[in-house]
Amino acid sequence: MLNKIKKFLGLEKYSPYVKAYFERSNVRSSIYLSSVIISLEVFMILSVIRLQFFSPNPRTMLWFYQHMSCYIVLLLSGVSMLVYAILYTRGKKTSPFIEKLITTSFSLISIVFGMYISYLDYLKGEQFITLFTMMLFIFCFLLWRPIYSIFLLSVSFISFYILCDKASTATYATQVNLTIILIAILMAAINSFHQKIKEARKDEKLERANEVLFRVSISDEVTGMSNMNYFRAQTLEKLHDKKTDITKMLFLFLDIEHFKNYNEKCGFMAGNIFLREFGNRIEEIFADSITAHFSNDNFVIFTKDENIQENLELLSNEIKKKGHGIAMELKTGAFRPENSDCLPVVACDHARYACYSIKKQFDKNYCEYSEDMNFDFHRKQHIINNIDNAIENNYIKIYYQPFVNAKTGEVSGYEALARWDDPEFGFLMPSLFINTLEEYHQIHKLDMYVLNNVCIDLSIQKKLNKPILPVSLNFSRLDFEVLDLVNEVESTLNYYNLDKKCIHVEITESALSENDEKLQSALKKFRSSGYELWLDDFGSGYSGLNVLKEYEFDVMKIDMKFLQNFGKNEKAKSILKNIVTLAKDIGMKTLTEGVETEEAREFLRDIGCEKLQGYLFGKPMPKNDQLFG
Ligand code: C2E
Ligand code: CA
Ligand code: CA
Repeated sequence: MLNKIKKFLGLEKYSPYVKAYFERSNVRSSIYLSSVIISLEVFMILSVIRLQFFSPNPRTMLWFYQHMSCYIVLLLSGVSMLVYAILYTRGKKTSPFIEKLITTSFSLISIVFGMYISYLDYLKGEQFITLFTMMLFIFCFLLWRPIYSIFLLSVSFISFYILCDKASTATYATQVNLTIILIAILMAAINSFHQKIKEARKDEKLERANEVLFRVSISDEVTGMSNMNYFRAQTLEKLHDKKTDITKMLFLFLDIEHFKNYNEKCGFMAGNIFLREFGNRIEEIFADSITAHFSNDNFVIFTKDENIQENLELLSNEIKKKGHGIAMELKTGAFRPENSDCLPVVACDHARYACYSIKKQFDKNYCEYSEDMNFDFHRKQHIINNIDNAIENNYIKIYYQPFVNAKTGEVSGYEALARWDDPEFGFLMPSLFINTLEEYHQIHKLDMYVLNNVCIDLSIQKKLNKPILPVSLNFSRLDFEVLDLVNEVESTLNYYNLDKKCIHVEITESALSENDEKLQSALKKFRSSGYELWLDDFGSGYSGLNVLKEYEFDVMKIDMKFLQNFGKNEKAKSILKNIVTLAKDIGMKTLTEGVETEEAREFLRDIGCEKLQGYLFGKPMPKNDQLFG
């Protein structure tokens, strides 16, 4: 009950939003109000002057001064109210005290004026309209808490009544009239207040909901930074801002290399906290720039080309400080927009491209996108956009490179290697498309295409009753993530009615990691189903001997780097010898890649390497009779 009364009287606490709403509403009303009053007063002043000086029946000078001073006071308070309201709408807020002072004095002056004029009218036996008009103006256009309206209106009415009653006793009709008018104006004032309160609260709710929606739509969940949509919108605006000197601006793409290890060691939650804190540091260090979380461990910044290296150094230190001893590196790619037409999406792609071009380069942490990269970039885009097309139109060709029995020199099988013969970019070697397809998780498409086409070639051999030699196929670690690879291989071979012995599964050493149970079980399944599993590029990666404990292979393909400068490199020879012995000890056969000379061939044969592959025996070639026998 008490609450209801408090609510009715406007004694509740109002939120800053509602208060501001009132303030705005009062300012808006005061513009109309003061304009009307100024016009009226100017009119009245002119009328009084005309009456006094230009009419045949002037009033007394006392009357003239009384009226003139009232009109002038009211005019001045109207003008000050109007000036205040105009300043307010232009964003020049004065102090709340001045605002209250101007509004209250304007209101009081208006009411006193109304009272005075009505009193004079009452003395003449006329109706006292001016007071009510003023009260309606002040209490219904401006917003007063009901308690103030009740107080001010009652005091004014009672004062007016006493004043009139003293001058000439108020009749019963006057008393009734005054009371009715008081009640009517009070009701209108209170009603107008509550109506406005309702509107203000509804507005506040909508505004809050809007704010939340806006925040959600522009921010990134993991880091709380701007998301890419908002980043693009903001950078576009900045690029088109005439004050921006585009020649001094840079797009940066940040990548935390080996962040995966942090996630693996500390867990996903800790990883997210790391990214959030790192994002906060970016926002601090690049305070005047536009920053956003791109994805995973990548961030983008649109910034002035000032102190870039120093700032990146600070960020790099942050990674080292918070990295729990995990060796992570900050890599940054940069792109300079040429003009305001530059699209943020493309700019980020370019900066990203520059960043990835220095991945795994230990001595480089910063790279700017250059003209040379432009061509590579477009080729890369073309590869990603056209892999389906290339497969459909057979732009991908299968090349076969033989491997031989080291002792006899007889061809014992082939390795299938992909080539991309593109109508636009020409003949592309795998180094130009394999990594890109892996990066964009499209490599399985190529590998399935190669598997299928090798099976077609082998089944043709079979139909022609020609001997079939096994073909080893390269598979990516990502194939195991996207596909049930064992199943795919199995069903393709069944479809072409081919034996498991026809193909070998090659997987590079770098693809293997400890504790990757999914990959381990898939590889085991391959072996237990009767496929030969070959370990590719042994000695080129970082995992080295450790992986041999967890995975089992039939053949170890020794990387061709050991044959570089063969002859002069005694150390490499000794390593090769040891690798071959080690492989034998753990029950694996060996194949050495990249054999180009007779000397290397003899050495490898003599140390017991079973199979050899290299230009000495044949380069990768498309299928032909000579090649397949
Ligand atoms: P890899 O599996 O190690 O293939 C051997 C690479 O060494 C081939 O390069 C081959 O042309 C080259 N090579 C062979 N003998 C010699 C030699 O005596 N001297 C020299 N200097 N090079 C020799 P290529 O065909 O450019 O393939 C590069 C890599 O691309 C392959 O390395 C393989 O990892 C990958 N790749 C090729 N085709 C496919 C595919 O269909 N799927 C997947 N996932 N990867 C593929
Ligand atoms: Ca291979
Ligand atoms: Ca290899």
